[in-house]
Amino acid sequence: MVLKKSQARKRTVKAKASPRARAESSAISGPIHTRRLGYALMMNLGTRPEKRCTWNCIYCPWKTKDQARCHPSAPGREEIIEELSRKLSESRKQVDSVVLAGISEPTVHPEFAEIVEDVVRLRRKLGARWLIDCISNGSALDKEKIRKACDSIDRTWIKLDCATNKLFKSTNLPASKLTTIEKQLELISKLRSPFIQTTFWRNSRDSELQNWSPENLQGLLEIYARLKPGCVHLTTLRPSSVFSKLRPIYYENLEAFAQRVGDLGIPVEVFP
Ligand code: SF4
Repeated sequence: MVLKKSQARKRTVKAKASPRARAESSAISGPIHTRRLGYALMMNLGTRPEKRCTWNCIYCPWKTKDQARCHPSAPGREEIIEELSRKLSESRKQVDSVVLAGISEPTVHPEFAEIVEDVVRLRRKLGARWLIDCISNGSALDKEKIRKACDSIDRTWIKLDCATNKLFKSTNLPASKLTTIEKQLELISKLRSPFIQTTFWRNSRDSELQNWSPENLQGLLEIYARLKPGCVHLTTLRPSSVFSKLRPIYYENLEAFAQRVGDLGIPVEVFP
């Protein structure tokens, strides 16, 4: 079943006037109208503008050499929850979702599981109906504590761009040499109900470094059929001068692929 295309709303609501430096180090941004998850508060468990991530995807706008360790100045658990409570109480409109994501891979934060617990507790205390989402590359799902935390929220969106190990290693660039796509899939399948987000791109200079290819599309279909995710979100890159050789995929092409995903009986949405 292909769900109706969501209308991406461009208007954003900026945080109330605060010094720029504070905004940059803030653990929570928004609420904003997001492309995929509605009107949302975004939790950034890393630091700005530096990224801390166990991968280094070729299209990621943020680069870092220290991939896997949380930055010492990343916000702590108490600070994050206090700020989330404040932002929720300041928001004039009901938010749809609270999203653990941001510039860094959220599971790199040493208190990820505890922060998730706090957010779940806060929602219960407020009697609120917003969803709790997490956007992750899934690299920490081998840790039971992280897996349980991901299973305790509404939707954990796992990044899955590549169906082959070669493409995965050369474009998502995982920090650990031991990581393989097979291992990743094994871990994702341990989640109670994974949600998948796939970003597509073409590479105008090197077709080996693009995931929009018949082989990869077929491989992804087989993986979706195996994982049976709650939903698949298909996205593409925004046109950018920073990665001029990496190109977005036309909406019509994404829609055609979404149809093939839908034919598997998997809910799918396209966000060009
Ligand atoms: S997983 Fe996300 S944050 Fe990490 S490198 Fe890839 S795009 Fe960037």
